[in-house]
Amino acid sequence: MINVSHLTKKYGRFKANDNLSFRVKEGETAVLAGPNGAGKSTAIKCIAGLLRFEGEIEICGYNNKTADAKRILGYIPEIPAPFELLTVWEHMEFIARAYRLEKWEERAEELIKRMELDDKRNKFGKELSKGMQQKISICCALLIEPKAVLFDEPFVGLDPHAIKELKAMLSEMKKSGTAVIISTHMLESVEELWDKVFIMMNGRIEAERERKMVEESGENLEELFFGITEKRGKVD
Ligand code: ADP
Repeated sequence: MINVSHLTKKYGRFKANDNLSFRVKEGETAVLAGPNGAGKSTAIKCIAGLLRFEGEIEICGYNNKTADAKRILGYIPEIPAPFELLTVWEHMEFIARAYRLEKWEERAEELIKRMELDDKRNKFGKELSKGMQQKISICCALLIEPKAVLFDEPFVGLDPHAIKELKAMLSEMKKSGTAVIISTHMLESVEELWDKVFIMMNGRIEAERERKMVEESGENLEELFFGITEKRGKVD
């Protein structure tokens, strides 16, 4: 479970996140949507424990800054940052050692195969294209079999095969009880997967909806998004 309580992140006087509170339960896939600059990446980085913030964040009951939380949290950043001088396979080995994983090889093989990196296994991080680097990020984050995962714009830069595989992986994570947050503005890519959506604007959550509520109203995610962001835009 991911529990965010009164999260505020300030850059000087500017509030990139302004008192956000929300919860994503086991097996739930939550979408963080919102226009550029709404504060999605900032919130994800705070949850990942990479930024200082005010408020409380818990991952499956552990404060997000603790080693217990980090051990079960996967994070796929918007901009991949692989080790330049480690090969694809060495990335897997590095994560396995850092997290003291046992019997990880088979899972690593499966992940790099699904992301079509198996024929690149001996290539260095710096030799890979942006999309391939993104795929390494996904493999590294999922190798630890996380209980909670944060994806920041995961579909940008991936080829159609990888998008299809990632969607399948997300569906498997849902079944196995993983709590997932996906920040994206490619709403059609999460249409089949999402359970909950938080629409952010100006650092705040403007609307929160469960899938059932949206389906009952006959709307889809995109219509809901434009309904809220365009209406607010006019008011401002
Ligand atoms: P999103 O992911 O929704 O596009 P971000 O979380 O990246 O939005 O950014 C939210 C706001 O915070 C933006 O106005 C951005 O300019 C600002 N911001 C992000 N990072 C920094 C930083 N390091 N210093 C100052 N302002 C920042």
